Amino acid sequence: MSTDTENVLPKNLTTAHTGVDAIMQNSTEVPESTVSDSVVESLRSGMRGPVILPEDPAYDTARRVWNAMIDKRPGAIARCTGAADVIHAVRTAREAGVTVSVRSGGHNIAGNALCDGGLTIDLSEMRTVHIDPQTRRAHVSPGATLADFDHEAQAFGLATPLGINSTTGVAGLTLGGGFGWLTRRFGLTIDNLLAADVVTADGRRLRAAEDEHEELFWALRGGGGNFGVVTRFEFALHPVGPEVLSGLVVYPFEQAPRVLAEYNESISKMPDELSVWAVLRKAPPLPFLPESIHGREVVIFAVAYSLELGDGMREIEPVRRFGDPIGEHVGRTPYSVWQQAFDPLLTPGARNYWKSHNFTRLSDGVITTIVDYAGQLPSPQCEIFIGQLGGTASRVAPDATAYPHRDASLVMNVHARWDQPTQDEDCIGWARSFFEAAKPYATGGVYSNFMTADELARTGAAYGANYDRLAAIKRRYDPDNFFHVNWNIPPARDGGAAGVG
Ligand SMILES: Cc1cc2nc3c(=O)[nH]c(=O)nc-3n(C[C@H](O)[C@H](O)[C@H](O)COP(=O)(O)OP(=O)(O)OC[C@H]3O[C@@H](n4cnc5c(N)ncnc54)[C@H](O)[C@@H]3O)c2cc1C
Repeated sequence: MSTDTENVLPKNLTTAHTGVDAIMQNSTEVPESTVSDSVVESLRSGMRGPVILPEDPAYDTARRVWNAMIDKRPGAIARCTGAADVIHAVRTAREAGVTVSVRSGGHNIAGNALCDGGLTIDLSEMRTVHIDPQTRRAHVSPGATLADFDHEAQAFGLATPLGINSTTGVAGLTLGGGFGWLTRRFGLTIDNLLAADVVTADGRRLRAAEDEHEELFWALRGGGGNFGVVTRFEFALHPVGPEVLSGLVVYPFEQAPRVLAEYNESISKMPDELSVWAVLRKAPPLPFLPESIHGREVVIFAVAYSLELGDGMREIEPVRRFGDPIGEHVGRTPYSVWQQAFDPLLTPGARNYWKSHNFTRLSDGVITTIVDYAGQLPSPQCEIFIGQLGGTASRVAPDATAYPHRDASLVMNVHARWDQPTQDEDCIGWARSFFEAAKPYATGGVYSNFMTADELARTGAAYGANYDRLAAIKRRYDPDNFFHVNWNIPPARDGGAAGVG
């Protein structure tokens, strides 16, 4: 096996892509399968779960992921039921020299959950979440979604920081870093990870924690799927809810420059218990908005306050005074309901293309750029999303975990989203052009979990100053780069990292 970046990356990422074709993987060409009959036989002889092949009726559903732009065709899909299946699948693929990809929640925008022609190790049915309320620990299987996690944890009034769309997989989200409404108060998802069971490239299952395979544990917290298949996560839990004070404050688009500037000013004064995210999009038909506004550009501030709810309104008050709102809906909401509030806007099956920047603040220049592009949304589903981090997440050292972007207090995600292939050119073009225009104001870092399929050149920026240490750990745990269908870190060569863009 090669450790050369050019050779280990999936074919569709190795060449320089500039056009729309680069991310439209909907080719009619059927990739050659490297999963031979004997490999299938061997997989089936040792697995409890099914092995799904291209000729099986379940195949097309099994290879579907959240982003409809992704149309990869694995040679086989090994649907695992437990760690034993994973160990068997890894050993079998490894012996036969078959490329593997790892799928948990299937939300990765770049489609890294699947591989063309190889074996997809599918964990999506391993969804058990066990909560220990005495020790405040969650033991989570890798196929669990955020909704699965919250459902179990909230039965005990507990939570850990996760993302804002409940159908996302806990596994991929955690391995990239993970942030959502509780991040400012309790840190990133990885800051709450206590241990993980990992099946490494040699087919062993290891436990990684602060006192066991410490370097591996460090690498898992932001280094993505490079180091093995995680079959169990252990998280710390915190008392949250059952209600939070949350909702939306909506401003007319004409006030966008002013309210975004006010937002920027207020960020440093907000308590950790409060998170305020900004969304610029065409207004959905929300009942608390005048009908005349539906379908027109607006600025939405989504707020969530999770501590003493009596104090919450006072903390949220400044958001209501950024300008003159045209509508708002803020009140006590069950935490698990708020965790699903954005699900209707983020359903699976649409075509999606994302571009993301990290910011330390919103300068006047970037606000002008944001407003300019939000005024040219190419489809009713496109939006500019600004997630707020900071707080506890920024008080962790950049080298304490593999996730390096502790300086990013705002993460902007340009969500281009549409339904028809005929809109590809317009929507992708808009996202790329906006991304370029906003670049001078950004930190240069990027959250790996928001990277789209044609962003190979940003891999180095995703791991930042932690890249060399990650490459050294990769050499120790996966010297042949068996796990390479991801934002890949080739193993360090003697004396240094293998190098990447
Ligand atoms: C609608 C939407 C909303 C989102 N919101 C947020 C948000 O609020 N906050 C946030 O932080 N992120 C968010 N994300 C990004 C999300 O964190 C990533 O898409 C993440 O990759 C999803 O994980 P998954 O398990 O669903 O993905 P998958 O596609 O199944 O996996 C992604 C990759 O992670 C690796 N991987 C997955 N499982 C394992 C495993 N068990 N062992 C080893 N490697 C594994 C593999 O390399 C795999 O290719 C969002 C994504 C979407 C689509």
